[in-house]
Amino acid sequence: MSTWSTKNYRVESADTSVHFQECISNAYARNVEYFEKDIPFFSIVVEEPPVTAENANSWLIGTPGYGSSPLTVKGPRFLEKTRKYILKDFENLVTHEMCHRFQLAHFDFTTPCWLYEGMAGHVGEQTPADRYWWVLERGINELAELHRPAQFYALGDYIGAFSIAYVLHTLSDKKTIMKFMSQSTRADDFEESSKTFENVFSFSIDSLCERWLSYLESSRPERSKT
Ligand SMILES: [Zn+2]
Repeated sequence: MSTWSTKNYRVESADTSVHFQECISNAYARNVEYFEKDIPFFSIVVEEPPVTAENANSWLIGTPGYGSSPLTVKGPRFLEKTRKYILKDFENLVTHEMCHRFQLAHFDFTTPCWLYEGMAGHVGEQTPADRYWWVLERGINELAELHRPAQFYALGDYIGAFSIAYVLHTLSDKKTIMKFMSQSTRADDFEESSKTFENVFSFSIDSLCERWLSYLESSRPERSKT
C-alpha cells in the first residue's frame, strides 16, 4: 500500500498511477462543483481483495465513512474482474461515496433515503437517464418504502432512487434541493418529510411521483412495451 495526500484528503492504495489519482481528484472536484463547498480533510482507503465466490457479487463495494473513519472503496482491479467496470465506473463510484460525505458534512442528511442515495447516484452519474425505464420492468417501490434507510437497504432499490432524484433535478434546482436537505432530519417519518417537501418545493411528493412515473413511461423504448 502507498499513501499520498492532497489538501483535501489522504489516499491509501496499491495503485498510484496518474490515471488512478485523476479518478480520485475528479470525484472530489465533481462534488465541489455540485455542493459549491469543500468538506473537512478525510481519508480514503482503496481495497483490492482477492476475488472469491463470496465477495464477487457483494453489493457492498463502497462506504462513505463518517468523520475520522475513512471512505472505503473496492479498487479498479477487483471491480473490473467482478463487474467489468472501466476506470470511469470506478470514478463514478468514488464520486457517489464522496457525495455522502458532502451530504453528511453540510446537512447531516441521510433521510429520506431515496434522496440520500438518489443524489449520490445523480452526482456519480451511475446510470444513464435513458435506462431508468428498467424500473418499470422490475416493478415500482413506493417512495414511502424508500424513506427509511433500513427499509431502503433491505430493498436495495438504488436505480429507483437514482431515477427519482434525476426527475427531481429536472423539476427543481440544486439550491431548493439543498434547502430541503437542511430542513430534513433523520427523525422525520414519511408523513413529516412529505410536509417539509411540499413547503420547500411548492409541489407535493405525490406530484413528484406522477412526474417520475410519466418520465419512466415516456423514456421506455417501444420494443419493451407489451
Ligand atoms: Zn450510497
